Amino acid sequence: MIIIKNPIELFNICKKENSKGFVPTMGAIHKGHISLIKESIQNNKITIVSIFINPTQFLENEDFGQYPQKKDDDIDICKKENVDILFMPLADSIYGINEPKVQANSITSYILDGFKRPSHFDGVLNVLLKLFNLIKPQNAYFGKKDAQQVLLVDKMVKSFFMDINIIKCETIREDNGIAMSSRNIYLDDISTKDLIKVSQSLFDAKAFILKGELKSENIINIIKENIKSMDVNYVHIIDKAFKKCNYVRISNNIILISVNIKKINYIDNIWI
Ligand code: AMP
Repeated sequence: MIIIKNPIELFNICKKENSKGFVPTMGAIHKGHISLIKESIQNNKITIVSIFINPTQFLENEDFGQYPQKKDDDIDICKKENVDILFMPLADSIYGINEPKVQANSITSYILDGFKRPSHFDGVLNVLLKLFNLIKPQNAYFGKKDAQQVLLVDKMVKSFFMDINIIKCETIREDNGIAMSSRNIYLDDISTKDLIKVSQSLFDAKAFILKGELKSENIINIIKENIKSMDVNYVHIIDKAFKKCNYVRISNNIILISVNIKKINYIDNIWI
């Protein structure tokens, strides 16, 4: 595995290779990230993983300065997983001054997670546009866990005629059902119990749907009842174009939940 910090060096190496899989991350690598890496290794000649805590996707009051970092462990994991290139740039080498920017569409990016985090997805799309242009991967791997993110990235790639397949990978969960996340290290026993309720309410909702309950309002009410003791940001059922749906259609919908636990925003979802 080679570790690269310099974007131009990465660009020059990537230019020579045609079968590239790319896994963008912010590090503190866990089994969720590893599942994406394994998927890329299986389907591409070389796999590039980036670890970059992207400043432009954090709002002022968020945890940018405290975001979990485990650089040495991350390097060991990537080596063990047979990653070919680990890209760990500094922010100064990624961003210049007075740069043009891509803007996420406000209708789809200022709702759900973007409602409380306006401009978050602008930051996400900007950094990914840069990383995609440096690497020019054929396949890029994203988690369904960050549903709004993967749908917006997919839309950007299609809108700008970029020749990249956005592969949507299943959410990897702890044994207790909680979706794995780098931010789970902030959880204590009580907040872990709350997050278990969140994931359980999604599994229950899916079970109700499979039994024939298709009315979104009823499904949302059942979920809200299960997590009523918590600080809930939203419970929504949308389709892949972000439209709210009165009735669930199998293979077409996503149920999304966002809750605040100790000032941190936790999200989970289930793709129906
Ligand atoms: P992050 O480091 O949190 O920015 O995540 C990097 C990538 O890993 C994103 O595409 C996430 O959606 C994905 N990811 C994060 N957690 C999980 C998980 N539990 N299961 C699958 N993918 C995940």
